Amino acid sequence: MRDLATLTRQALDEVAASATLAALEEVRIRWLGKKGLLTDYLKSLGELPAADRPIAGAQINAAKTQVQSAIGVAQDALESASIEAKLVAGRIDVTLSGRGEARGSVHPVTRARLRIERIFRHSGFEVAAGPEIEDDFHNFKALNIPADHPARAMHDTFYFPDGRLLRTHTSPVQIRELKKGRLPLAMIMPGRVYRCDYDMTHSPMFHQVEGLVVDENVSFANLKATLEGFLRAFFERDLKMRLRPSYFPFTEPSAEVDMSCAFCDGAGCRVCKHTGWLEIAGCGMVHPHVFAAAGVDGERYTGYAFGMGIERLAMLRYGVSDLRLFFESDLRFLKQFGAV
Ligand SMILES: [Zn+2]
Repeated sequence: MRDLATLTRQALDEVAASATLAALEEVRIRWLGKKGLLTDYLKSLGELPAADRPIAGAQINAAKTQVQSAIGVAQDALESASIEAKLVAGRIDVTLSGRGEARGSVHPVTRARLRIERIFRHSGFEVAAGPEIEDDFHNFKALNIPADHPARAMHDTFYFPDGRLLRTHTSPVQIRELKKGRLPLAMIMPGRVYRCDYDMTHSPMFHQVEGLVVDENVSFANLKATLEGFLRAFFERDLKMRLRPSYFPFTEPSAEVDMSCAFCDGAGCRVCKHTGWLEIAGCGMVHPHVFAAAGVDGERYTGYAFGMGIERLAMLRYGVSDLRLFFESDLRFLKQFGAV
């Protein structure tokens, strides 16, 4: 039992010397663990004469309890010291100077889209949106483009295995809005569209804005006035505009819209290929087949529609020559555009 007193002192010294929780745990295992020194001591009781066992057992258990409680006290002290250290380290010095902030800006395509929306809202148009994953009916059939129609070849379409597709234009939103049956309506529908195409002037994803006005007695003259007013507001100049007869399946009659070149004021330059004119939009009167597919009374209502590329408008307004610059995420390019 003299040994026991020595061992206990030794254990208590080690507990007192533990500077960290990890060190303290090692001490606990060495003395009180399954193969610990005091545990072993207790096991050796069997070698003592039967008469001595109860007293010796009680003494060993008392020693264990003493060491155990010393470990508990040391553990509490180390834990509160560690919390205190974290609190001191994490204290915020509000008198330190700030780290500054890197301020981003709106992407030029978004900037152009917001500008378009603002101009049309001022003229009483609503802004609508539709899904980018479309079905054949809304993207083609309801727009008077049946399965065998040659216009489909002009739309290099991304198809899903189940026959759905990434919309090739924003025109399907026209159908979705017309089907709601809330007439008259005047709205624009900006959004992303997708085609299998990539070069200086084409990107597999780009943005269009679609316009649609349906009411009684809507005429081609209204269409012309709306487009002319928009282009003047968007480019902030007194631009000339002309319409050339064209063909789109979903409008009749149809026209392409040219505006006088914003770079040379019509004198002729590289951008307008020395014609003085820039092609800017497609438009026309809503085809009776489109009204029929969307359940609109074509005897009572007439309407006009137009479509423009938002990147094209942004390129012409900001003087960008390569469409791909918009999608390369090059900060040197993007930083040239400030806030809206
Ligand atoms: Zn020009």
